[in-house]
This record gives sequence, C-alpha cells and structure tokens, in this order.
Amino acid sequence: MTLTMPPARPLVDRYGRHISYLRISVTDRCDFRCVYCMAEDMTFLPKREVLSFEEIERIAAAFIDRGTTRIRLTGGEPLVRRDIMDLVRSLGSRIGHGLDELTITTNGSQLARHAEGLAAAGVRRINVSLDTLDSARFTAITRRGRLADVMAGIDAAQAAGLAVKINMVAMADVNADEIEPMMAWAHGRGMGLTLIEGMPLGDVGMDRVQSHLPLRELHDQLARRYSLTRLEKRTGGPARYVHVAETDGVLGFITPMSHNFCESCNRVRLTATGQLFMCLGQDDQVNLRDALRSGGAAGLDAAMDQAMLLKPKGHDFVLDRNRPQPAVARHMSVTGG
Ligand code: SAM
Ligand code: SF4
Repeated sequence: MTLTMPPARPLVDRYGRHISYLRISVTDRCDFRCVYCMAEDMTFLPKREVLSFEEIERIAAAFIDRGTTRIRLTGGEPLVRRDIMDLVRSLGSRIGHGLDELTITTNGSQLARHAEGLAAAGVRRINVSLDTLDSARFTAITRRGRLADVMAGIDAAQAAGLAVKINMVAMADVNADEIEPMMAWAHGRGMGLTLIEGMPLGDVGMDRVQSHLPLRELHDQLARRYSLTRLEKRTGGPARYVHVAETDGVLGFITPMSHNFCESCNRVRLTATGQLFMCLGQDDQVNLRDALRSGGAAGLDAAMDQAMLLKPKGHDFVLDRNRPQPAVARHMSVTGG
C-alpha cells in the first residue's frame, strides 16, 4: 500500500475550496463537430501554441505536488492527439504516488484501438459521450461521426475491464425521446448514464433556447414512473446521482443551468495552450505556459497561487432570447469539457 502524504502547500481558493481535481484539454481539435459544441467551420489553434507533452507533465506534476489527486484528460478529442498514449502512460505512472485517479472523456471514435492501452496505463474509468443510439441521428448531431465506431469502442473498453459512463447532452428538440431507451441500454450493459444540460459556450449556430431541456423537470417526470433513490455520491462537480430500481443502474444529472453547484467546486481546467481556467462559465484565467516558459518551476508555482485568488464564487450562465450572445465566448472544446 502506498501512503500519500498531505501536500505541504495545498491549493486553496478565497472561499476555502481545496483544488484537488485538474482537467487537462490535450488538444482543441476533434474529428467530430457536435452541433452544441462546435461550429461546422471551426478554426483550430496553430500546433506550435499547444503545450508539449513535457510541459503538460511538468504542470501536472506541480499540481500533484500541491494536492491534486484526480486528473481527467479531455479536449477537443483527446484520443486524436498524436502519440497521446505516451502522455497517458507517463501520467499513469504517477498513480499511487500522489495521484489517485487518471480518467479520460472521449467521443469514442478512436477507443477501439486505445482501450487496452488505457487499461494497461492504470486508467480504470472512462466517460464516453453519446447522445443517441440511432445512427442517422448520430451523424446529424456529430456532423461526421459513425455510431458503429463508438459502439466498437465501448465494446473494447468493457472488454479491457474499463468502467464506462455514458454522457448524453439532453436536447428538447433533438433526443429527448431517447432518454429512457438510452437509460435501459446503458444500465443493461452495466454502464452509468449522465444527462447534461446544454451550456451556452461559444457561438455554434444552434438555437440553444429551443434545445434547452430543464433536467430538474425531467427528473420529476421520471420520478413519477421509476423508483429513484438519491445517492450521496458527490464528485465536487455539478452532477447529482440517483439509483433507478427498475433498471438497476445509476442516472446522473448535470444541471448547471437550473442549479448552482459551485460551493463544493474542487476543479480547475488547463487548456491545450496552457491557460488555467478556474471556472467553465467565467473568463478569469492564468497563463501557466508563459509562467513555466519564463519562470520555470518557481514561476509556475507562483502562477498557481495567483490562480487561487482568481477562482470565482460561481458561474453566470443565463439562457435568454433577448441576449443572443453566448454567456462565454469560448467553445467547450477550448476549455475542455
Ligand atoms: N471530445 C470528447 C467528448 O466529446 O467526450 C471530450 C471533450 S467534450 C467538449 C466533453 C463533454 O462536453 C462531452 O460530453 C460533450 O457532450 C460536452 N459538451 C460540449 N459542448 C457542450 C455544451 N455547450 N453544453 C454542454 N455540454 C457540452
Ligand atoms: Fe468533439 Fe467532444 Fe466537442 Fe463533440 S463534444 S465536437 S466530440 S470535443
């Protein structure tokens, strides 16, 4: 058994929240263009601006030294970055040495060929984003993905022993009719299903007001038809979980639009270019890439302290027909979902 010592100087923000969870966007690029996430004609960052693996490793190590116990790789699509498994292996080698868990959020398109490697590197749980089980609808939502590839990825992940959770963005006018079938399917395969409210991040050309599906109301509707037991499992994030007796599985609700969840927020997000965002829904940021390149380890450490002073109390998401601009101009793929 490895004993993890508490960090000498934990990262604590102005509201007393301990930062123990780092989400790292390893690329802003993606092989899909999901309608709620990206515009059809996205321009991506020049590769020279993106952090090298060595820089990501140094930043991750600095966070682990100061009390980060969980890291999630995300993007963009993390599995489309070249040689991504090198980074997964190197971060995986820190599990048990300060790091408790390394996870990944993926669209599943490249999962079939990487599932075994992820498991071998110490990853135990992954999130796969999937909004529909209908292949024509899948291609319409992702604009270019193939459902069969994702299904093969999920099969491979389960065969490799990875616990899989499905994330589904619930949209009133797109896939509301599939919520119950998706739940039956996911729970039937031993996977959790988490429903996400669409967030107003970046201009993507879709009508977010029309698509908005308030998950609190959905929860109440489901509670009339299923036996839901609230689970105390809390991740420090916006998700709330229930156990569904009829399907014997876990259903999660991520409700940033109808719920303020920030009092227990324990996370920060590193973009592919090294900006550290303290909140998905605010613009405060510290540039860790510049701090590291100009000031080395000491510069990075000081920038992390500065970030703690900037972490806001909460987000300001509002969906309003009279306010056409998104609450935050950055796309989800830039900050990392
Ligand atoms: N490409 C990977 C994937 O799709 O899983 C990882 C990055 S993606 C940005 C992470 C998650 O954010 C996905 O589950 C996606 O559905 C969700 N997402 C993207 N844009 C969103 C938005 N505007 N509102 C809510 N969820 C969003
Ligand atoms: Fe790509 Fe994930 Fe955004 Fe879809 S949600 S476009 S898969 S980054």
